[in-house]
Amino acid sequence: MPQVLFKVDLTKPMSEQELVGHNRWHPDIPAVASVNPGDVFRIECKDWTDGQIKNDDNPNDIRDVDLTVVHVLSGPIYVNGAQPGDILVVDILDIGALQGDEWGFTGIFAKENGGGFLTEHFPTAAKAIWDLQGIYTSSRHIPNVRFAGITHPGLIGCAPSQELLNTWNRRESELVATNPDRVPPLAALPNPQNAVLGSLKGAEFERVAAEAARTVPPREHGGNCDIKNLSRGSRIYFPVYVEGAKLSMGDIHFSQGDGEISFCGAIEMSGYIDLHVDIIKGGMEKYGMVNPIFKPGPVEPRYSEYLVFEGISVDEFTGQQYYMDAHVAYRRACLNAIEYLKKFGFTGEQAYLLLSCAPVEGRISGIVDIPNACCTIAIPTEIFNMDILPS
Ligand code: ZN
Repeated sequence: MPQVLFKVDLTKPMSEQELVGHNRWHPDIPAVASVNPGDVFRIECKDWTDGQIKNDDNPNDIRDVDLTVVHVLSGPIYVNGAQPGDILVVDILDIGALQGDEWGFTGIFAKENGGGFLTEHFPTAAKAIWDLQGIYTSSRHIPNVRFAGITHPGLIGCAPSQELLNTWNRRESELVATNPDRVPPLAALPNPQNAVLGSLKGAEFERVAAEAARTVPPREHGGNCDIKNLSRGSRIYFPVYVEGAKLSMGDIHFSQGDGEISFCGAIEMSGYIDLHVDIIKGGMEKYGMVNPIFKPGPVEPRYSEYLVFEGISVDEFTGQQYYMDAHVAYRRACLNAIEYLKKFGFTGEQAYLLLSCAPVEGRISGIVDIPNACCTIAIPTEIFNMDILPS
């Protein structure tokens, strides 16, 4: 087992850990540890809500979740020698649950508190608890399914530069200003309430808390990309924007479907990540890099049979034709899959949760055939203990 650089005590909030992590992005959040290129080390992570969700049958904790607390991250880790313009090479050597905490949760957020991809159809909070047995999982809340996880960090990335942070804050506040009263909001702007900023204190804490970016969206540094294929064995190339790169991570998912559609949509858990890091000097310019690139690992669940649902860019409520809108088309594909699964004994909520967290494949299948984008969602039929094909 590699040396544990960041340990978590699951009985304490992130702000009371021995090393305090963070839940905002800012270049001035101090690093908690440093490593050299070539080092192998272990990072432990709390679940993204900092322990707000309980292993029980009551979804009120999902309904009442305090989203100013998310995402609690472990780090930043300072990589000696990394300079702005370099590439930080991060190998995910292993990832898994913490001993004694082998369970996870998938939630549908209430429309007034977080929402999700299908929030107009599923505005009420719901929760599924998953028991983890090695690589497999099953849930007392969604019967007749069992599958192997594709475990990955939902969120991993380096700190932004001050300039990049300013750009994020400017463009996201411009978007929110187009419809400031929308529920859920168009973007999560800086919010000092419940900010956790490592060892920062006093006036410095106040300054950083006021402008630090929320961790919700993926951005140029990676961050909350929620890509299920950043799994064991993958190699990620991150653009470096600050000295030392300041790598942080969290939001570990035991499993997730493409799109993580219900927002709290993966099987969320605490866990550990074993990493190896290296540096490519001057790599950003050499490879024209703006966002991270990655090479998936060799270890993923091997499902070979799928039932695939199509969706096109036509609104389900109004029948309005959208032009090449992949967001609308993917929503229609998901809704088609949910309606279908309801014929096999699942509730709409169970089907929505399942599409969020099972290893389903989402695709933009066609994006040139005017006026309809065509998106598809492919469900592995082997995850069900019954035949779900039409007959
Ligand atoms: Zn997550």
